[in-house]
Amino acid sequence: MKNLIYNLDLETIQHTLATWGEPSYRADQIWKGLYQHLWTKAEQFTTLPLALRNKLGQEYAFSHLQAGKVLRASDGLTEKILFRLPDGPAIETVLMHYPFRNRQDRHTVCVSTQVGCALGCAFCATGQMGFNRHLSSGEIIEQVIYYARQLAEGGQSLTNVVMMGMGEPFHNYDATLDAIRRLNHPGGMKMGGRRFTVSTVGLAPEIRRFAKEGLQVNLAISLHAADDELRSSMLPINAKYPIREVLNACREYAEATKRRVTFEWALVKDVNDTPKQARKLARLLRGMLAHVNVIPLNPTNKFDGEATTEKRATAFQAALEENGIPCSIRLRRGIEIQAGCGQLASRRGY
Ligand code: SAH
Ligand code: SF4
Repeated sequence: MKNLIYNLDLETIQHTLATWGEPSYRADQIWKGLYQHLWTKAEQFTTLPLALRNKLGQEYAFSHLQAGKVLRASDGLTEKILFRLPDGPAIETVLMHYPFRNRQDRHTVCVSTQVGCALGCAFCATGQMGFNRHLSSGEIIEQVIYYARQLAEGGQSLTNVVMMGMGEPFHNYDATLDAIRRLNHPGGMKMGGRRFTVSTVGLAPEIRRFAKEGLQVNLAISLHAADDELRSSMLPINAKYPIREVLNACREYAEATKRRVTFEWALVKDVNDTPKQARKLARLLRGMLAHVNVIPLNPTNKFDGEATTEKRATAFQAALEENGIPCSIRLRRGIEIQAGCGQLASRRGY
């Protein structure tokens, strides 16, 4: 199989072109073609001589993702696409529009980083399917490019990238980081670090490593419980990296990047939506640059828990805020098209 061109960084393209006897500025033209013009076929690289265009097309694949079924939510604000990978499995990517009255609209793409996930969180559809394989950096990038191009065609532009689709980004650390760096590259798409959010189940060593990358990426931690017993029953990885260790790593992250860390919490009725859990959480986060996002659980087939009610969610939020911890209640976007958190790829159907 040909290597996907989005797997290459600029230096690799420069090096390859040098071995082909091409001047180095051709590498910049290719980079601009990929990341500024968003060209997706070798023929489109009209800035290059025909022979080089042909060679590029012979040597590299310009797409690994075969677009399948697209589902759009009835409010028109969320859409999900199923992409088939060359070796067979499928992943999903979600686009969310956030219209604002007084400032520029936000258009956020939610990308997958793996096919399936090895972490097995009880309430998550991706976890319930198990792990198939990592995505390459290029396969992560191609999901972003797909929607960047679609938006550009409609006169809009992509504003944010969240790594909250299928998979655990820090279990696929190098590819995730390479994808961010390539999209962030000043000669290409120039997406600033603050426009990315990496969501992790709490792999403490990788959080620490990420803190040292010199990026200003937002970090979101899937916490979901304020004591180890409850958290381990929902997120098995907690046995390896208990809450205290995850939070220590988060403090290092906030310190190094000066970014506020977000804690994610899927509210399961009568399980983790109690005022007692809220107060425990507030104690854990005291003094930290933090914010809590709660979302009512999206029910999945293999998990018995129920979604919280609006009233209980509001009470949870109030208990946190009374204790000085900012908290937002998130809407469950896209659940009617199975594009909600934890629902991705739970239902195939090309
Ligand atoms: N593996 C990463 C990112 C992918 S999951 C992580 O766990 O953070 C993205 C988010 O969806 C996480 O916060 C995860 O806990 C949440 N999530 C998973 N299943 C869910 C469900 N059924 N209802 C609500 N949120 C869910
Ligand atoms: Fe994996 Fe995240 Fe789902 Fe847990 S919540 S199984 S880490 S994708």
